[in-house]
Amino acid sequence: MPDKVDLRCLTWEKLERFVVDLGWKRYRAMQIWQWVWARNAADIAAMTDLSLDDRERLSAVAFIDRPRMADVRVSSDGTTKFLLELKDGELVETVLIPSDAPQRAGDLAVRMTQCVSTQVGCPMGCTFCSTGRLGFRRNMTMGEILGQVQAARAYLNDTRPEHPIVRNLVYMGMGEPLLNLGPVLDSLRTLEHPRGLAFSPRRVTVSTCGIEKGMREFGESGLAFLAVSLHAPNQELREKLMPRAAAWPLDDLVSALESYPLKTRERITLEYLVIAGLNDQPVHVRQLARICSRLKAKLNLIPCNPTPDTPYRAPSPEELLRFEKALWQKGITAIVRKSKGQDIEAACGQLRAAHMSAQ
Ligand code: SAH
Ligand code: SF4
Repeated sequence: MPDKVDLRCLTWEKLERFVVDLGWKRYRAMQIWQWVWARNAADIAAMTDLSLDDRERLSAVAFIDRPRMADVRVSSDGTTKFLLELKDGELVETVLIPSDAPQRAGDLAVRMTQCVSTQVGCPMGCTFCSTGRLGFRRNMTMGEILGQVQAARAYLNDTRPEHPIVRNLVYMGMGEPLLNLGPVLDSLRTLEHPRGLAFSPRRVTVSTCGIEKGMREFGESGLAFLAVSLHAPNQELREKLMPRAAAWPLDDLVSALESYPLKTRERITLEYLVIAGLNDQPVHVRQLARICSRLKAKLNLIPCNPTPDTPYRAPSPEELLRFEKALWQKGITAIVRKSKGQDIEAACGQLRAAHMSAQ
């Protein structure tokens, strides 16, 4: 018998075909779709508007693959990090970050941004990144990518009766999304389906270290905003920090971003990890100014979260402020993104690394 199909791995078109192939009427696809995505059904048995016979028939050929919650950590700032175990035992991370500041101490955020992973590990080997140091293990399926969204929703439903809403999604967890483009694009199409998860594409951002082929195709799809991990304003430093990503020369990457298709009022986000003494000096401000003058972009400054065995140091608040001010003086819109969840190892790949080394 062929393997059972994971319903979370079927796009809308594939589910319609699957249902028709079973000899069922097309409307069944919408029933199943809503159970899987809008109602977050735990299994096929929960699909109570299908007859018992039909549920049995569907269970014989399909299932809903749900990751196991291996660990949950809640930070003092409300950031919640989940470690999920996939079917083959691999571990990935996803994080919920409060997007609005609580009004009073002890209040919980109402709106949240979720950060999702797209690969187990990452082949790009950036030297500051825990995931990069882990190496590449495998790509995630569409079901596993969106399984993170569903796992967080189920957790919030169970633990937070007032139902905080996850409004924004960032593909900024473990892995390089543009190296797993098929499942990533399928997941983006599924996210925006109005009868399913119903995310607005204007609230979804995909972050890449810069992959030439993938970026063109992603841009043409228009399915989400683009963020680019720049981290270095010159080729030499980029080669040190991001040796594999730098195989696409910085100047060529910036040229590609100049002609990247943008919607009205859309800007590319440039992410810049601030590493004290290494990429936050006056010369780097001048180099960044040259890059930004060529682009419709905004710059996000992320204070480096040092990982074990690296020489990288986080900037002090004064160092960070000095760098930010110098950028503003050059007319660059730079915004500091505070590292959240410091106490729960929330930077990309850190919880998995801590979990593995504790075993
Ligand atoms: N591969 C993609 C998306 C995942 S990495 C990319 O590189 O864009 C997402 C982000 O994790 C990176 O932009 C980087 O800013 C952040 N990150 C990785 N290591 C970090 C560290 N040590 N401290 C703070 N942020 C880190
Ligand atoms: Fe991969 Fe992004 Fe980490 Fe680089 S920063 S190793 S591209 S996950």
